[in-house]
Amino acid sequence: SRTPVTITITGAGGQIGYATMFRIASGAMLGQDQPVRLRLLEIPQGMRGAEGAALELTDCAFPLLEGVELSDDPAVGFEGANIAMLIGSRPRTAGMERGDLLAANGAIFGPQGRAIGERAADDVRVIVVGNPANTNALIAQQHAPDLPAERFTALTRLDHNRAVGLLAAEVGASVKGVDGITIWGNHSATQYPDLSHAVVAAQPALDAVDREWARGAYIDRVAKRGAEIIEVRGGSSVASAANAAIDHVRDWVLGTGDRRTSAAVVSRGEYGVPEGLISSFPVRSSGGDWKIVEGLEVDEFSRGRIDASVAELVAERDAVRELGLI
Ligand code: NDP
Repeated sequence: SRTPVTITITGAGGQIGYATMFRIASGAMLGQDQPVRLRLLEIPQGMRGAEGAALELTDCAFPLLEGVELSDDPAVGFEGANIAMLIGSRPRTAGMERGDLLAANGAIFGPQGRAIGERAADDVRVIVVGNPANTNALIAQQHAPDLPAERFTALTRLDHNRAVGLLAAEVGASVKGVDGITIWGNHSATQYPDLSHAVVAAQPALDAVDREWARGAYIDRVAKRGAEIIEVRGGSSVASAANAAIDHVRDWVLGTGDRRTSAAVVSRGEYGVPEGLISSFPVRSSGGDWKIVEGLEVDEFSRGRIDASVAELVAERDAVRELGLI
């Protein structure tokens, strides 16, 4: 039988962690023939929640689950990790300045990045969910200089999946017929969901929908979907965030085939995004690597939206540099 894959989940006592681990253990992420080991990492205040979740994992008797270990020490939690899902982060609370938020997260993602660099398996793949996800991923990456920078990614798959779902609903088509949507830039309100190269129900998306909607209300709806969920549900998105993190890892490891998706990955200067930033791009995955889809035409409208979101990433990077976090 196959060697188990070790998956470390941080913030395992929180909501998204809870919604993630049972699906991983059931085989939804790496397949029905791949045994897994889970490492649940928390801060001391979060340990009881993680312990409770671990009891429930036992009670599920998942055949693929070879073990569960808990820790509040990154050096232990990332030991031998093949996949690191960094979900826990310090949320913005009322009255908190941006610098405070970045500093609080620097204190989390710097040491985690270092522990990953020193302790994780050579093939470790990192996905950051906790916000501000792109910049938290950059901080972690900068603390693991011995790993290829490409191993550090941030989640924009939830934005992507929202964009797919909302386009399909607008046209009255199946999501299976949607491809070629791109989320560009930062996982924030400045993100740009781009339908320029998308298809839906076997026709160009921009022919199937009103162009003003595509470049106005649609962009707002995708970018503000998190707030819409909070308003309607009375709490932030949890299952859909967990689902997106699982989709991201599954596609990264098992490949996308010809289909495109979106992920925040390290820029090598593609589409004019400054090198080293972790920005969302159109991607495919094969052989266990994300590859940015190059050569897509970027019109003036798209250029402006991409540049605005990337400018925000530059400002976040500069702020964490000034704070000495990278
Ligand atoms: P959640 O599990 O609901 O969310 C975790 C993180 O995911 C938040 O930072 C949240 O950011 C982010 N996130 C990213 N995308 C989304 C999205 N689309 N919808 C909702 N959230 C999104 O938070 P909980 O408070 O329930 O749990 C967090 C846990 O993390 C706690 O148990 C805490 O103890 C732990 N923690 C662990 C650390 C560690 O392991 N070292 C460090 C810090 C915290 P946003 O707030 O912006 O929505």
